[in-house]
Amino acid sequence: MKRVLVLGFAVASVCALHAQAPSAGKGVDWEKLRPEILERYRSLVQIDSTAGHETLAVDYLKKVLEAEGIPTQTFALDPNRANLVARLKGNGSKRPLLILAHTDVVGVQREKWPVDPFGAVMKDGYVWGRGSKDDKPVLAANLITMLMLKRLGIQLDRDVIFLAESGEEADLAGVGINYMVREHFADIDAEFAMTEGGGARIDGGRVTRVNIGTAEKLPARVRLVATGTAGHGSVPRLDNALIHLGAAVEKVGRWETPMRLNETTRAYFEKLAAISPPDHASIYKALLDSKPSADAQKFLREHSPGEYSMLRTSVVPTLLKAGVGANVIPSEAEATLDIRALPDENIDAFYAEMAKVIGDPAVKIERIPQTRPPSPASKLQTEMYRAMEKVAGTIYPGATVIPSMSTGASDQAQLRARGIQSYGIGPASTESDETNYPAHGDVERLAESSLYPFVQYVWNVVIEVAGHR
Ligand SMILES: [Zn+2]
Repeated sequence: MKRVLVLGFAVASVCALHAQAPSAGKGVDWEKLRPEILERYRSLVQIDSTAGHETLAVDYLKKVLEAEGIPTQTFALDPNRANLVARLKGNGSKRPLLILAHTDVVGVQREKWPVDPFGAVMKDGYVWGRGSKDDKPVLAANLITMLMLKRLGIQLDRDVIFLAESGEEADLAGVGINYMVREHFADIDAEFAMTEGGGARIDGGRVTRVNIGTAEKLPARVRLVATGTAGHGSVPRLDNALIHLGAAVEKVGRWETPMRLNETTRAYFEKLAAISPPDHASIYKALLDSKPSADAQKFLREHSPGEYSMLRTSVVPTLLKAGVGANVIPSEAEATLDIRALPDENIDAFYAEMAKVIGDPAVKIERIPQTRPPSPASKLQTEMYRAMEKVAGTIYPGATVIPSMSTGASDQAQLRARGIQSYGIGPASTESDETNYPAHGDVERLAESSLYPFVQYVWNVVIEVAGHR
């Protein structure tokens, strides 16, 4: 996942009235299951499934599922980058639930790691390894859920579909979700989906917030291309492409695009306002006004850029390319803008507005082809969201559940674009772990103690939404 998970400012701690772990489960002995959860999770982390090697993980999953009598199917555009689907049938009274996770992990720089990045080494209460956060906890939780549904013979009102997909991190070849949605959609079509894209925050030793990912921004990058007359560096020219490009980059980089909340971000800021200390609460509240406060936006821009990005379509210059020599005026200069659009953005109108902001006919806006489709936000008033909220309350008592919009992009975009209501989850971590050992960071690790409640969370949501009533 290209993760940009925003969890807001430090939040006032809430009294833990219900500090006891819930008796979660329909007949699952969670204490007894712990060693198996850990073993399966570690086995997955030990598989080096960096892009191009995802079939190694699929081979493992296939073996484990089939050993328990759960049939699997593999779909591969590239034999080394297979996807795996397994389905447990329900009685068909409701449409299926899809639980998915990606098998690929980003690469490693071994010299940065204190331990073997594919050792799943247990040290200081953590499991260390590439993929230990992104995305093998979700993959392991989904796997365990399938195994237990089968072992306990759980009656289902809807099919539960397990998907392990390749190429989430870099699917330029389209081997993962793009391939599955395009060629094998019938095998994964569902009413609801649950996958990475959310998380939970530990403050002061307990989980205080659970984020459910319900929306994401859409990458809509462009190149700005300025043209002018080439010439000798000793002769100043007014139509120098660099001067025109520089002015354009400055204008769009400082452009205050229109602010707009959607159902998810409105709920997000409302909930944060309700649990934040007064000074921060007043900032969040000021965003909810019919005329949102400019000062509040400015505050977020300076102090919480991730949350500022949730307010609007963002324009960020990221690349510059121009020139061949110190004494040569180039005829062309270009800049790349990483634009992340709100889910409901009218992108044509947005580019037209940007052209006006630039106001220079020497600078053209060229669209860069995108690999993800526009996707509407998933709704908050669904059986699935309500179940996730309810289960969060039992697994993480006292935690505030907050819907969130990722400023990054994920494979949920393809699912939402096809009409599936998709929701993001993730295991709990501390702010310090999120900062120092993030997904894609030099070193990745997950607290072992976060793994078990997370698996229970996934299991209970599946039971709640798909179990027979
Ligand atoms: Zn991921």
